[in-house]
Order: sequence, then C-alpha cells, then structure tokens
Amino acid sequence: MRGDGPVALVVFTRDLRVDDHPALAAAAGGASQVVCAFVHDATLRSGSPMHPLRTRFLADCLADLDASLRQRGARLEQRAGRWVDEVLRLAAETGARTIHSSDDVTPYAQRRLGRLEAAAGRSAEVRRAPGLTIVPPGAVTPAGGDHYRVFTPFYRRWLAVPRRPLLPAPPPCSLPGPAPGPGPASGPAPGVASGGERAARARLAAWGKGALARYGEQRDDLADPATSGLSADLHFGSLSPLRVETALADLPGAAPFLRQLCWRDFYLQLLAARPDAAWADLVHRGGQDRSDPVRFDAWRSGLTGVPIVDAAMRQLLAEGYLSNRARMIAASFFTRHLGQRWQDGARHFLAHLVDADVALNNLNWQWVAGRGTGTNPHRVLSPTRQARRFDPRGEYVRRYVPELRSLDTALVHEPWRLGRRGLARIGYPAPVVPVVPVVPVVPVVPVVPGDQGDPGAA
Ligand SMILES: Cc1cc2nc3c(=O)[nH]c(=O)nc-3n(C[C@H](O)[C@H](O)[C@H](O)COP(=O)(O)OP(=O)(O)OC[C@H]3O[C@@H](n4cnc5c(N)ncnc54)[C@H](O)[C@@H]3O)c2cc1C
Repeated sequence: MRGDGPVALVVFTRDLRVDDHPALAAAAGGASQVVCAFVHDATLRSGSPMHPLRTRFLADCLADLDASLRQRGARLEQRAGRWVDEVLRLAAETGARTIHSSDDVTPYAQRRLGRLEAAAGRSAEVRRAPGLTIVPPGAVTPAGGDHYRVFTPFYRRWLAVPRRPLLPAPPPCSLPGPAPGPGPASGPAPGVASGGERAARARLAAWGKGALARYGEQRDDLADPATSGLSADLHFGSLSPLRVETALADLPGAAPFLRQLCWRDFYLQLLAARPDAAWADLVHRGGQDRSDPVRFDAWRSGLTGVPIVDAAMRQLLAEGYLSNRARMIAASFFTRHLGQRWQDGARHFLAHLVDADVALNNLNWQWVAGRGTGTNPHRVLSPTRQARRFDPRGEYVRRYVPELRSLDTALVHEPWRLGRRGLARIGYPAPVVPVVPVVPVVPVVPVVPGDQGDPGAA
C-alpha cells in the first residue's frame, strides 16, 4: 500500500465505468488511498448459468475498467466467493474504513448490501451511492404513495425533476492505491461485440450521430430496427444513464428515445418499492396459467410453427438479443396463445439475454401478460398482424428461419396455408396452437384517461 491516510474501498457491481460514478468520485475525493474491487458473487453464479455471450460481455467490461483504473494509478482487484465475506476480507486486508458501493434495487442486491452493512458494524462504514438510474428510485412519488404504478404520470413528473450534476471521470494518476503491477496479457477478443466503457461510449456517440433521428419511426422495424443497442451497456453500467440522457437530449429524435430511458427508471423505481413483483404478479387477475413442457420446448427452440415467433426465439438463442418489438411478440404468444406462466418465459429470457435485467425483464413480461403496470390488460398481440406490420417483406423471418427462405412474401408469415404436405416438404411444423385471437382477461385496473403507457410505442 502506498502512502498513509484513510483508505477507501470501492466495490463495483453493475456500475462498470469511471465516468459519472458517484461512489468512485466520493472515494477519490475523501481518501488518500483508493482500492477498487469486483467480487464474482458465488451465490449469483450458483443460480442459473450465464449465457456465454453475457459472460464474455462482463469479462470485457471488467478488463476495460481495469485498464481505465490503471491509467489513474489504481487497478481492479477481482475476487470470487461469498460477496459479503470477500468485501469484508478486502476491507480488513487494506485497512479500509469506508466501503463505497452503488445502490441497487433488486431484492437480492438490497439484501446483500443490508447484510454487508450489518456485518461491517463499527469496523467500516458502508456508503451507498446513486447512479443506477437518471432520477433516483423514490425521488418521484404520487400523493399518498411511495411509488408509481402507471407510467404516464410518472413520466410527466420525471421530466421535471432537476438532475444531479454529472461527475467527470477521475483524472489520470488521481487514484493512489495498491501498486498496479503488470497489466493483463490480453484485451477483448476481436470479432465479439465487445463490452466495456470505451466501446459503450463509441456506441453512444455513433447512435447520437446516426440512427437516433429515425428512432420514433423505425424502432419497431424487425428486420432493421433503428434502436441504440445500448441495453447491455446500461445494464452493466458501462454507461451512466444520466450521461446518455445528457449526451442526446438536444439531438433530433431524442424525445421518444429518452421516454424509453424513463421506462427503465420507472421499472427500477417500481421494483425498489415492490420487491415481491420480481416474480409474483404485480396485479393478480386470477386464472390458472399452465407450465406445459411440450409447448415450452416448442417455443424455446423456435419450433412453434408461427414464423415471427420462431424467428424471435431463434435470434435470442443465436445472439442473446432481441429488439423490444420481438420481445413483445414472443412474450405475448407465450402467455396469451400458449397460456403459459409468464415466469417460465421470463426465466428463459434471463438465461439468454446479454442485457438480462430482473426489473426490466420481469416487469415487461407482466405488462405483456396483463398482470403488470399496463392500463389495458386486454391487449393481445396477433402474431400474423404484427408480422405483416413490422416485417412486411418477410426479411426478418427469412433471416432466422431458413426453412421459409424459398416462400414468397404472401406465404412467409402464414406457411400453414401450404397444408400439411407442403409444410412437410419444407420441413417446417404446423402451428402448435391455432393462430386465432384469444379471449381477453377481465381488467381490474381502470384505464387512466390519456395514458399512452405502452412500452412498445414511442
Ligand atoms: C418481454 C420483455 C423483456 C425485456 N427484458 C429486458 C431485459 O432483460 N433487459 C433490458 O435491458 N430490457 C429488457 N426489455 C426492454 C427492451 O426490450 C430492451 O431494453 C430493448 O429492446 C434493448 O434494445 P436497445 O437498447 O436497442 O433499445 P432502445 O430502444 O434503443 O432503448 C434504449 C434503452 O431504453 C430502455 N428501454 C427500452 N425499452 C424499454 C422497455 N420496454 N422497458 C424498460 N426499459 C426500456 C433500455 O434501457 C434500452 O437500452 C424487455 C422488454 C420486453 C417486452
């Protein structure tokens, strides 16, 4: 350890950046030595396995963060094990009396930080910092409540909340800590969509200069969606959401895009206040959902016989990513047409998405299933209507479902019109359920006049 004086420990979680990082800035401002660490949490690792693309993305983020810290005189200490034990061990080893960590909203992260605070006792002070959202969870509340359940009133209030000042990255050589030592031998693998703060900043800049202007009109186009592709950067915190908002706010086309960032804040504030909503219906409407392994397998492997759904499910398996429109179509079919429990579908998405996020994933699933914040739980997406509207030339379906490549546009979204023999000839299944409108569930939440609370509509 270099120098004397107070030591601060910064424990990174899903805030893998140096720019606009309130916990890092607080440590750098108040201590003469800063130790930076990331703990690979054994509890999280023992749960459902991470998709290899997500593991790769996280490794890139950590390598890039380490490189940025080294430019500043520090480095990223990585440990693996029980998170609380490892953090306390690091604090004891380095003599840190202050532990800085970004606050989070998931039930697990809340419990984990609470356990750290209790276990640290008087040996170290744990300081939670903001930065996960643009407006901190709990900062916007309705009269007489501690969170919003309807988007539009939240959005109106959210727009007016004064933002905290952005915090620049600490300057070079400003984080004296343990001697950095030799750097890692290799950087991110070439050819892989790389994670990390530098790659994320480049994506943000390209997005602002490029397709942002078309976002409002073209975000739902399935073959060529004009969307930012920033979701994993936002999930792992290699971009500060406040930085994103500030960078884009004055550009043409920004308003509908910033509205989607508000949906992110909205769901994160909701989960902070309603941790039970991670896996239970936010609004329980009765009825029995099924867990049918045959239907689940057909859906999961992209063999439902409904082309737009199969294309989405195969894209998910291949790329660990889906546009919002494709997520809505796949989730709606699973819950409404196949009548399956939204939790089973949500778990499958979490296991395969690079940007997997409990708040955004599970609350969107509930929205689609009519159990969440939506003000119109009647809404059922017709896969054929969605396909004709958002993949009018069938390009998206042909890209991911090669069996259908030879079909002309009139048939590509409805191959069942070929009949059983025709389907057998191209090697594509008949629909697992009839593709007809399903009976809507009865709403129990009144529709709020003027509410356009559709996370799929900009
Ligand atoms: C069933 C379902 C599951 C989803 N699961 C996830 C998930 O696990 N992780 C995740 O990050 N997003 C999830 N979303 C939200 C959304 O689909 C993705 O954020 C978006 O498609 C990512 O691509 P993008 O960054 O190019 O989006 P853009 O359209 O460029 O949006 C920019 C950002 O705004 C936020 N955002 C956009 N749409 C939504 C939305 N509907 N709700 C909340 N925030 C939004 C995201 O942070 C996104 O990165 C889910 C949506 C649905 C319908």
